[in-house]
Amino acid sequence: MTLAETLRARIAADGPMRLDAWMAACNQAFYASADPLGRDFTTAPEISQMFGEMIGGWIGDLWLRAGAPAFDLVELGPGRGTLLADSLRVLARLPGLAAALRLQLVETSPVLQDAQAARLAGWPVQWHGAVATLPADRPLIIIANEFFDALPIRQRRGGQELHIDLTGDDFAPLWLPADGPDAEWSEAAADVMAQLSARLTTHGGAALIIDYGHDGRIAGDTLQALRGGERVSPFTDPGAHDLTAHVDFGALAILAAAHGLACHGPAPQGAFLGQLGIAARAAALQFGKPAGQAAIITAALQRLTAPQQMGAIFRALACTAPGWPAPAGFGMAAP
Ligand code: SAH
Repeated sequence: MTLAETLRARIAADGPMRLDAWMAACNQAFYASADPLGRDFTTAPEISQMFGEMIGGWIGDLWLRAGAPAFDLVELGPGRGTLLADSLRVLARLPGLAAALRLQLVETSPVLQDAQAARLAGWPVQWHGAVATLPADRPLIIIANEFFDALPIRQRRGGQELHIDLTGDDFAPLWLPADGPDAEWSEAAADVMAQLSARLTTHGGAALIIDYGHDGRIAGDTLQALRGGERVSPFTDPGAHDLTAHVDFGALAILAAAHGLACHGPAPQGAFLGQLGIAARAAALQFGKPAGQAAIITAALQRLTAPQQMGAIFRALACTAPGWPAPAGFGMAAP
């Protein structure tokens, strides 16, 4: 049975599906399909090795200033494993780091787990289907790039909540009565953030969340589906494209703070990467290269940092456990 057939049967039996259930089913099928990344969208680590290298520097700096403890390096939704592979190339040069680190990857897609295993061969990797099964015996440094935007959302407007119904064989939006103010929110994101925050408070560490999003002051419709770079209806061809929504950084920061974590940012991605030294890295990579290759590096730098490209709409939020140092990249002096 195709996903469309399964969802038609489910709606016929149980009635209209709430948006979050629809989004969960669509994304699970999308990410389980062959090579979901690169086909319909690209992400910062896939644009340039510089992205993962900057994150590697960020992790290494924090780990050293925290006293170089044994720790779990966790990535949520690692895609093809590119960010971690680039980060680990930097981290492997720090004396003692390889012995201190275990890798914990939270990934539901078997196809992407295979890609990650190939990319991270030689490192001690464990996979998890959800954050609930992460080990709980040491500090965690948690990285999430373009993970939270894929988690299911709900939408309420004008006293109605968005559902998906059938008209004939086609899926169509249906707004059903629901009490409460206009809002777009993600219970799944809040649940993940609460679990991570509780672990960080108990065991120490930090989380770095990078995504496109807002600070909670806009309430609107940010649900989108991309196919071949073009926006398409989120209610057709379930599982053929990923469904995403802007991340509400304000909501995540409030949750983290409620658990006693210190929040840094969200800072625009361009400013964050700039403070981590991405321009110097680009210059080093360009040194001695022919003009054509140097231009490609300049273009990647621009794409990651320029405000009209990914530099402003993408943001970085870091949350640190009590007693952990302030992280680099947020305009604060290192202690
Ligand atoms: N971080 C990568 C990939 C981003 S795509 C990059 O920047 O290139 C989103 C990733 O999250 C994919 O790896 C996808 O399989 C994973 N994912 C999406 N929803 C998930 C969920 N509910 N639980 C675990 N992983 C999920």
